Amino acid sequence: MDKKIKEMPKAELHRHIEGCVRVGTVIDIARRHGLKLPTFDEGELDRIYKLRAPGASLAEVLGMFELAQASFVSYEAIERITQETLEDAYKKENVRLLELRYSPDFMLKNNGLDWQKAQEIINSTLVKFEKASNMVCGVIIIASRNLGLESALKTIDFTLKNKKTVIGFDLADNESAYPSSLYRSAVKKLHVADIPLTVHSGEEGAYGQVAETITALFPRRIGHGVKAADDPSGRTVELIKRAGITIETNPWSNYLTRAVPSIEEHPLAKFIKAGVRCTIGADDPEILDTHLNKEYQLAAQRMGLSAEDIKYTLKCAVEGSFLPPDKRQQAAKELAV
Ligand SMILES: [Zn+2]
Repeated sequence: MDKKIKEMPKAELHRHIEGCVRVGTVIDIARRHGLKLPTFDEGELDRIYKLRAPGASLAEVLGMFELAQASFVSYEAIERITQETLEDAYKKENVRLLELRYSPDFMLKNNGLDWQKAQEIINSTLVKFEKASNMVCGVIIIASRNLGLESALKTIDFTLKNKKTVIGFDLADNESAYPSSLYRSAVKKLHVADIPLTVHSGEEGAYGQVAETITALFPRRIGHGVKAADDPSGRTVELIKRAGITIETNPWSNYLTRAVPSIEEHPLAKFIKAGVRCTIGADDPEILDTHLNKEYQLAAQRMGLSAEDIKYTLKCAVEGSFLPPDKRQQAAKELAV
């Protein structure tokens, strides 16, 4: 089964570039740029850098992301990290359709780099990789709710300006402190410009937040969405289904952040049974010590997905992708869905 899953061509819609920095790369970039690290020993840093079991404090998790964030120190580093992210997905996980995402304000906050130049480098790295491989890819711009409304507005304008090289927009992070209704008028500009929207919602907090996201923001996809399953009336899941929304699930991530009590209790199988369109992603593979092969193994072995369900998640990924139709068609052929 493991070999079969590894060899299976896959599609992933939910992967943060900031969560894809290899440990060896964190060390190498720190050495080149004279950055401080808790340790320069790869084994030791690996233990500090990766979340392996639920229960880490928020400060520990933030520390992990700060280590990754510090690596985006130059345009050269951004290009290298993007290239390695693509290589890892393509070679190790056999991904044939990949949507990456990043938050320019978070990624570039502390290093004085220009957003526009960074976006151009990320895009050209993707374009080059696509030409040299049989993987199609694109990038989504994220506004980190934690950075405030002003930052979100700036990020929306940046996305509009880069409409030609960006495939979509995402709102991420602290949904409880920054509820979706706060962004109701801000995202209208994106809808007018026909830029597809996905929103991290129902990753924590109450199921009512998912309904709020749908009615306030009209996203085409929702990241995580696990809390929707907590609605005892089943109405939230029904709402997702009726709106034709695709849920980008990230099972291992949800387990590590305690969004679900155990991997067996993840609602992916329940969503599929209810007729909701679902995909499987790895979220932050390096920091969360995961990859798509592992996510699919968990789905098949511990979450009750049949071979047919697995195929369904891949078909939903291709159909729900924000990439243009020609690229989605190419991916459909590669994945045989
Ligand atoms: Zn995410």
